[in-house]
Amino acid sequence: MKFFCDDNLGKLAKLLRAAGYDTLFYRTIRDGELISRALKDKRFIITRDRGLIGRGAPEDAVLLIEGDNPDEQFEYVILQMNLHPEYERWLTRCIECNNVLCVVNRKDYVEQIPPYVYKTHDEFYRCPGCERLYWKGTHHKRLTERLGERFRK
Ligand SMILES: [Zn+2]
Repeated sequence: MKFFCDDNLGKLAKLLRAAGYDTLFYRTIRDGELISRALKDKRFIITRDRGLIGRGAPEDAVLLIEGDNPDEQFEYVILQMNLHPEYERWLTRCIECNNVLCVVNRKDYVEQIPPYVYKTHDEFYRCPGCERLYWKGTHHKRLTERLGERFRK
């Protein structure tokens, strides 16, 4: 299941990526381009803009959502699309650019990792796009809280 969040749903896009879902989001994108790219890629369009359907998006390719709260939007998407976020896939994607993260050896990045984190974590991941490093620290804890125990297997 792949998604394309419209330009108002950046926080929701990050949550979906954090849960392992391939999700595109661009701060500025024209409706026509969003629709054609989503269709080409077979992505569900997530939007608050009902008008998108009138502008060429097929109704069955659009998930309309309401509300401003990203956590609630995320929960709504999970329920509506009947998703089952698998714990193993959490934090396998860069939340900033959607690339799949690579497992890296912490020794190769010792200068970029805070000493305390280096000492207390074994697993590190790196985004091949923006080069951001990830570990199962605060991000992971926050995500676990957000996804809630009920999604955990
Ligand atoms: Zn990245």
